[in-house]
Amino acid sequence: MLSGKLFITVGSMAGTALVAFLFFLPVVSHGQQYDLLIKNGHVIDPKNNIDTIKDVAVANGKIVKVDNDVSPTQSKKTIDATGLYVVPGLIDIHTHVFVGSKADKFADGIYSVSPDDFSFKSGVTTVVDAGTSGWRNFPLFKEQVIDKSQTRVLAFLNIAGSGMSGKPMQEDVNDMNADSAAFVAEKYKDIIVGIKIGHYEGSDLAPFNKALDAGKKLNEPLFVECHLPQYSLEDQLQMMRPGDIITHSYEQVSERMPVVDEHGKVHPFVLTAQKKGVLFDVGHGGAGFWFSQAIPAFQQGLAPNSFGSDLHRFSMNAGMKSMLNIMSKYMAIGMSLGDVVTRATWNPARSIKREDLGNLSEGAVADIAVLSVQKGKFGFIDAGGNRLEGNKKLEAELTVRAGKIVWDLNGLAAQPWKQ
Ligand SMILES: [Zn+2]
Repeated sequence: MLSGKLFITVGSMAGTALVAFLFFLPVVSHGQQYDLLIKNGHVIDPKNNIDTIKDVAVANGKIVKVDNDVSPTQSKKTIDATGLYVVPGLIDIHTHVFVGSKADKFADGIYSVSPDDFSFKSGVTTVVDAGTSGWRNFPLFKEQVIDKSQTRVLAFLNIAGSGMSGKPMQEDVNDMNADSAAFVAEKYKDIIVGIKIGHYEGSDLAPFNKALDAGKKLNEPLFVECHLPQYSLEDQLQMMRPGDIITHSYEQVSERMPVVDEHGKVHPFVLTAQKKGVLFDVGHGGAGFWFSQAIPAFQQGLAPNSFGSDLHRFSMNAGMKSMLNIMSKYMAIGMSLGDVVTRATWNPARSIKREDLGNLSEGAVADIAVLSVQKGKFGFIDAGGNRLEGNKKLEAELTVRAGKIVWDLNGLAAQPWKQ
């Protein structure tokens, strides 16, 4: 390419131009090797133990350098992130984004949302759909949503053939098939990251066992959505394997046993399950998060492993709002910013066995969130309508997906307007 340029230059320009070209040759050849440079931001990259001010350079959709003082002359575009936090693109492992199926209130689009509408503005670059589709309708989900979204959409495949298709279909035990689920999950193994069980109200253990069977065939985690009220929480946690994920961890509803007892103590069997390696996801949603559970649990060592939001049309307009709001809520509860970022990036990446994501390693895909910490008087709401006050709130200033700027709240990457 350079010799081509040189040839054109020699062929078409006068001697002075050639001299000028040769003078600037090092700048041309090495000059703009990066597409994007995010300078002076405070990088928090839990995987690589980075928690300090660094520059992050991006080229061809990949992170190519995380270092001190990278020169802006080397980049086509430079963003000054002074005073901001630069973290891996956030991963939300509990969402409902299958908007296309005709099946039920969840899958027909009444509950589900379109991923790009809500992800980037919250710094989220990867969402995992929590079993809205099953092995029968996953191809439709892929065609309608996954293939058409800029957000990376992964999925826990529902053991129920048609996913969250409403009663009685989603509770038909005969339509829950470990072999079929494993077959589809294997076929789309770059997208499907585990098997989901939930929204089943019968007393039969078969659905749980079938989901477990599929998870074992695939060596992928189970995502247990409902804390199935007809089984005891203790039994469910005992059946779960290390690496399996339970969501709605801090729910307090009458039908099922919460993780914290009536005296404010975490049940010993819950801590035993945590020690065994069962992963606790927030799964906030509309009803899944209560301060009465989450705060004592946090104080007694049962912090969530991930901040799955249970994003759907109701939760986003209620106390949940966005994953960033859940992160801010946990800062108000007492979690450090570093711990909050870990649970929004590297922890969920590992829990879905996608260690290529949730980090800013050189060579990794350039999914990046640039966050601000707003200071002031804020309120956070739980599912019971309780309000917790906090003085910090995270906001997504800039979101980058595969090297491309997909969200820019205050025009950090835009040029100054001149009349
Ligand atoms: Zn859900």
